[in-house]
Amino acid sequence: MSCAALAFSFAFLTFLLWASQPFEMQPLFADIALPVPLEKTFTYIVPPELQDAARLGCRALVPFGKKHATGVIVKLAHETTIPNLKSIRDILDSQPTFSDEMLKLTRWIADYYFASWGEVLKAASPRGFTAESKRSVKLTRSLEQAGDASQVENRKRKESVQQRILQILSRNDGVTIRTLQKKIGAKGIYSTLNRLAADGLVMIEEQLPLSGRKPKFEKFVRLSAEASARPNEELLGELTGSKQQKLLEALINHAKESQEPILLSSLLKETGGTSASVESLRAKGLVEIEVKEVPRRVEFTYTEPRQKIVLNKYQSLALEEVLKSALAKEYRTFLLHGVTGSGKTQVYIEAIAAVLRLNRTAIVLVPEISLTPQMVYRFRARFGDAVGVYHSRMSDVERYDAWRRTKSGTYKIVIGPRSAIFAPVENLGLIVVDEEQEATYKQFDAVPRYNARDVAIIRATYNDAVVILGSATPSVESYHNALTGKYQLLELPERVDNAMLPKIEIVDMVQERKEVYAALKQELAKEERAQLAQFQVSSISRLLRLKIEDRLGNKQGVILLQNRRGFAPFLECPDCGYVEMCDQCDVTLTYHLLQKHLRCHYCGFVKPAPTLCPRCQGINIKYRGFGTQRVEEEIQKLFPQSSVLRMDLDTTARKGSHDRLLKKFSEEEGGILLGTQMVAKGLDFSKVTLVGVISADTQLLLPDFRASERTFQLLTQVAGRAGRRELPGEVVIQTFQPTHYSIRHAAQQNFKNFYVEELKYREELDYPPFSHLLLVEFKGGNEKEVARHAERFSQLLRKLNSHFTILGPTPAVLSRLGGQYRWHILIKDLKRKDRSGRFARDALRKALDAYRNSALGKSRAVKLIVDVDPQGMM
Ligand code: ADP
Ligand code: ZN
Repeated sequence: MSCAALAFSFAFLTFLLWASQPFEMQPLFADIALPVPLEKTFTYIVPPELQDAARLGCRALVPFGKKHATGVIVKLAHETTIPNLKSIRDILDSQPTFSDEMLKLTRWIADYYFASWGEVLKAASPRGFTAESKRSVKLTRSLEQAGDASQVENRKRKESVQQRILQILSRNDGVTIRTLQKKIGAKGIYSTLNRLAADGLVMIEEQLPLSGRKPKFEKFVRLSAEASARPNEELLGELTGSKQQKLLEALINHAKESQEPILLSSLLKETGGTSASVESLRAKGLVEIEVKEVPRRVEFTYTEPRQKIVLNKYQSLALEEVLKSALAKEYRTFLLHGVTGSGKTQVYIEAIAAVLRLNRTAIVLVPEISLTPQMVYRFRARFGDAVGVYHSRMSDVERYDAWRRTKSGTYKIVIGPRSAIFAPVENLGLIVVDEEQEATYKQFDAVPRYNARDVAIIRATYNDAVVILGSATPSVESYHNALTGKYQLLELPERVDNAMLPKIEIVDMVQERKEVYAALKQELAKEERAQLAQFQVSSISRLLRLKIEDRLGNKQGVILLQNRRGFAPFLECPDCGYVEMCDQCDVTLTYHLLQKHLRCHYCGFVKPAPTLCPRCQGINIKYRGFGTQRVEEEIQKLFPQSSVLRMDLDTTARKGSHDRLLKKFSEEEGGILLGTQMVAKGLDFSKVTLVGVISADTQLLLPDFRASERTFQLLTQVAGRAGRRELPGEVVIQTFQPTHYSIRHAAQQNFKNFYVEELKYREELDYPPFSHLLLVEFKGGNEKEVARHAERFSQLLRKLNSHFTILGPTPAVLSRLGGQYRWHILIKDLKRKDRSGRFARDALRKALDAYRNSALGKSRAVKLIVDVDPQGMM
């Protein structure tokens, strides 16, 4: 070959190389997790113009069937073996919605709880998966002001989607993405906008929150810089008025604990000061007042006096243990078992403070955020604006806003209900799960059916973070884990300030009724005795009544628990035995007094209450049992002078109503707070010295293996509301089962004895913590079909079984809900034989595959639901 030829072919080769690089991009394929109930991902081509934008964790719009769907990119690759792929239409995010960590976590949840990855991602994303086509787009003002129009001109000249978008925007001020989509077609619009936004040419704005929700401003006070620099005694010495002194003292104490200014209104409330005295302090240059926009926190108006808290020896010991792991940045789970009022919250707060100092972040899970205004208040008082509160009643805009503030690092501590476990915090150092035993941590009614407490532990292991599970009444499972060394047990055995645990008395209601009737018989004249049948026994025993009277007389507070709402749980005809049932569900209808109607507490079905028996036309129709409404009515008759506040689902349905009720109760002298389990949790009122449990039996006899545990927990919790400070507390528990072990141990406040006895039953019956449970539910409108599916499935499962027990199929305890028949299969997989539960899970997965591929499994008439580690068995 001649030299010239060689030179030519070299040049040609170089040309080829050069040509192939910038112009021919490598093909790129993305696996997308879509929110459909199929446990697989879908592969798409990433077209060249989207290759820059396509990153792991970004949401993408893809053709799916005849429509489009939004999913998340979970894998990117340059090769695929799948032929005939479709292309991604658009990438919706400029920054990934999901970090690598969240992808890993959601993947684990999908696998463990038998959900599709896409569905888990959807549940974990801040506002579902909808493309936010209502957001509006503007040219950036800075661009116009800077006269940098040449850049716009340049882009305009390019024949592209960018150009057309800029043209439209230069003519209109603020156009929604949807309008742009209409004008120039939908393809690639999000990624184009994201690119323009990244270059600073356009601004994408959130639609304003619903009208009427204007920003809210509040006054805040702090010590002036000048005052902070001077010794406290000198400052206080200068002041003449005692009001001003008190104010200043409070500010000085506050400054020791927190850098944040204090809300003026709460400062005034705490010190009894006036705005005028604050104003004079300001005139003297001692304090500064700022007006700041505050997030609307309708639900959290609760305040309490501030106090300087020094941890007691148990709290310090617990904190020390937690910090050992936190400082070493090693994963560990602690079970903080502290009696009610032992100051668990303070341990959380100090642990979080330490973690923040390491530049790490924290998540605090609470069972139901609206039930914990006091806790939210304490966190805000300590950490100010670094605290982000998530709750289930947030609007989409509020939720997204909170999510964004978390992602950007403004929020370093996130408090919220179970879904807050998906908060996009980075550098996670600590997760607190308060009241870890609560069933609300388990999502039972939607995919994924995850337990946030268990997910918290997984998330912590990914981050080398620590977990604190806190409770006065740990779940049997967690306590077992602590005793067997899987978790580390920390105990706070005493109440702070040496407050005594309350004295608890049991009233045997069988005996009570006998005695009340006997007394009545003696009192009544012969001719009146016939009326005895008409006599309605009271739900309040004589002992409880006396004690309430006494407390009200001393202006102390009373909490009464009746864990059943409505007026009466059922209506019965004594003549023919007819009971009013729901048409759609296999349950009795509850009578609601105010509306004079019957309501189903499962499906919401409502009908007017009959005056005659629908079956025999009898006129003696009777209410049976006591709901909160009925107890309220009785209390009002017994104590007409006193106020009764009722707190249950019916009185707290409106946003903010829960907090208002609590505020009212905290402000009045004495008074009675009556309610369902809501009154048992988290409340800390020093004036409450008496707690009455109207009926301890409401949950006890339910056919669920956790019935005893739940009863024990509820009684212990509500008892803990009594006598939390100087005043000693008393508790009266009324029950028809006075000898039941769960009630006996609760009365003795002996968790360990309860635990030992409960564990025996669990072991005998192979329930957790000795086994893993998997519940498979079949439901549909036709009972025969439902049964047929369940039978078939259990056959498939039995064939694959090697190690575990299969119970059923049988109709569920609530065999019909909302018109749907329900059948259950329960798998019990003994840990002794299968430590991790893998065998049962593998078998279940195989059975599911076989079922779904069969003709039966393809029919839509029956729905199959898998519930892993179920919290409800009914
Ligand atoms: P728990 O959550 O264990 O029931 P809390 O954390 O609500 O208890 O504490 C009960 C009360 O005791 C709160 O008002 C809290 O401020 C107060 N407290 C906590 N620790 C201390 C302490 N070391 N000294 C004084 N008071 C404390
Ligand atoms: Zn119903």
